[in-house]
Amino acid sequence: MKSIILGRWGKVLRYRKNGEDVTEGGGPEDFPSEKSFPDNVVAVMSGKGFLQFKENFDFVPMVAEYVKQIQTKYCCGKCITGIKGSKLILVTLDRIMRGEGQESDLVLLRRMAGVLNDAAKCSVCQSAGELLSDGLEHFREHFLNAVKHGVSDGPFRFVGSVSAPCMNTCPCHINIPGYVEMLQELRYGEALEIIRREMPLPGITGRICPAPCEKACSVANMGDVAIPIKTLKRVAADYEMIHHLKPPLEKVELTGDPIAVIGAGPAGLSAAYYLNRLGHPVTIFEDLPESGGMVAVGIPPYRQPRDVLEREIDILCDLGVTVKRGAKLGKHFGINDLFREGYRAVFLGLGSHKSTPLGIKGETDGIAGVFSGGIDFLRNINLGKEVSLGENVIIVGGGNTAIDCARTCLRMGAPKVSIVYRRTQSEMPAEPEEVEDAGEEGIEFHFLTQPIEILERDNKMTGLKCIRMELGEPDKSGRRRPVPVQGSEFVLEADTLIPAIGQTSALDFISPDDGIEITRHVTIKVDPSTMMTSRPGIFAAGDVVSGPLTVVHALAGGKRAARMIHEYVNTGKCNPSDSQWMEDLIAKIEENHGVLVTARTPSREGGKVSTMKLEPLERIDSFREVDSGLTQKGSFIEASRCLRCFHLILLAVDKAAS
Ligand SMILES: Cc1cc2nc3c(=O)[nH]c(=O)nc-3n(C[C@H](O)[C@H](O)[C@H](O)COP(=O)(O)OP(=O)(O)OC[C@H]3O[C@@H](n4cnc5c(N)ncnc54)[C@H](O)[C@@H]3O)c2cc1C
Repeated sequence: MKSIILGRWGKVLRYRKNGEDVTEGGGPEDFPSEKSFPDNVVAVMSGKGFLQFKENFDFVPMVAEYVKQIQTKYCCGKCITGIKGSKLILVTLDRIMRGEGQESDLVLLRRMAGVLNDAAKCSVCQSAGELLSDGLEHFREHFLNAVKHGVSDGPFRFVGSVSAPCMNTCPCHINIPGYVEMLQELRYGEALEIIRREMPLPGITGRICPAPCEKACSVANMGDVAIPIKTLKRVAADYEMIHHLKPPLEKVELTGDPIAVIGAGPAGLSAAYYLNRLGHPVTIFEDLPESGGMVAVGIPPYRQPRDVLEREIDILCDLGVTVKRGAKLGKHFGINDLFREGYRAVFLGLGSHKSTPLGIKGETDGIAGVFSGGIDFLRNINLGKEVSLGENVIIVGGGNTAIDCARTCLRMGAPKVSIVYRRTQSEMPAEPEEVEDAGEEGIEFHFLTQPIEILERDNKMTGLKCIRMELGEPDKSGRRRPVPVQGSEFVLEADTLIPAIGQTSALDFISPDDGIEITRHVTIKVDPSTMMTSRPGIFAAGDVVSGPLTVVHALAGGKRAARMIHEYVNTGKCNPSDSQWMEDLIAKIEENHGVLVTARTPSREGGKVSTMKLEPLERIDSFREVDSGLTQKGSFIEASRCLRCFHLILLAVDKAAS
């Protein structure tokens, strides 16, 4: 017998495998099985139920630990039922575990658990009541045994982690319900303190994060509009900036080993920040004259104002991080030079800065009006270089870069701007809101269109020969593959072309002697649990590892690398901490079995305040920020809709097998 399941993962309340005690209906198929967990995990307890993978496991110490963690760490203290109820239960369980309890204590426990389950304000404490009630019913013999003889944790240690659907979907695992709650109380400093524990650039991600958290929000999953988690983060960051407040961050004595970070993009900035917090002197070496990576030289200021970025980088420098600009790895210095200079570890956050060519006729003929790529175009503009456009611009591509190029061209005064994309709007990788904004501003879209040749007269572009496409069978990405319609060629008139179909990393300077393995997709290979490359002491994260992705993924990778670098230089080893181990495990289980937690309280009525946006005609006159976010009142109303649906997930781990 392996699995005993009690609880609400599916509909089973108790299940045993070999004959005995099989509950009718349901079955373990719906449940995460022991295969979903590492071998040393013996039991799992969460707001969704209890799973046990080993015989002779006592329920009582685990539920006591669950109540203890809720009581001491996660209870918000806002309802008397939660704070007092969980305390009384804990005292009673302690007494029983010491062998000083009586059978009548079990009656008391059942009553208290029922009250906690029914009357606590949110599901954090409710879950403890529910688990205890179920346990008293289905594991009564364990409780009776504890009353008689007492019981200890035995050969197990308990590892707990608090999670919520939003937190778990956020690559940085920010305590979202925690900071949203601070915003309800207008405690912006405390909200930022919570955010910066896991992610150092709240002003930036509060604007341009694709916010996977909002898609997982329990309020949305109950059929209402998600809490605007992203914009609430921005409200806190903007408050600090507008009021010139000093961030609540203490300077740390930098007595650790010096670390070199290459690249001042989100990955590098995040690695530097967390290394600084851990006491390491950090120097960032950046090729460009600006810090911020693609946030500075890719994302245009009408989405991501530069003063916000500059302030967030200044905060980092004030804490003691040094940034050397105009310093290119592979040109001005090599990796081995860094170790010779005394750096104990190196972090590579090089991003993806090489445009992918269209591969069509005329592209490399030096025709006037043809740009080498969208990211080169945006970089030049963002670095203040002179860029001249024609009257009729075509951008090729369907991602964020294509949309940003098109909207930038409009703001530079181009009278006609179109986007050519080989699939349909629903397959566009760009954020739907960006596509909508671009349409409102007057950008034309040519869907199911593939360019095949650049046309020219006197070496000046005159048009783009294209072919119509139709959608065929799905490809590896799951999107339907575009197929050319024979004989459907046509010409779009244009004098300017910006290809924006993708980018890769520029890693030519890394030689086999450097010992850093490069994948066939021209990314750096790392161990995802430690972010260490194939060469010990060299770590990497961000777009250079994942390929072009998002700021929040780069920030998460940089943070993980920083924690592992600290471990590596101090111990010579790279062992993920319990909390990191839990993060990965929960993410994996949720990917396969759905969320481990769900809210039970219905969403509160009201709210749903929209952010304030400039009118389309006002927008295209300048690079002014389009979206000005939420007012304080709006943020209060929105934050008040949060269900605080986080739950504790507790594992019992076999000490001998760890
Ligand atoms: C146009 C555009 C729009 C985008 N919009 C969004 C968005 O809305 N939301 C979102 O989340 N993400 C967006 N992204 C993606 C996001 O910007 C990236 O995923 C993120 O910046 C990656 O961070 P990174 O630190 O890995 O790399 P980067 O930001 O690219 O930073 C890498 C840094 O390393 C430096 N560098 C490279 N090689 C060397 C070297 N040899 N020596 C020294 N320095 C070097 C580079 O100059 C750069 O500063 C967008 C990207 C683009 C191009």
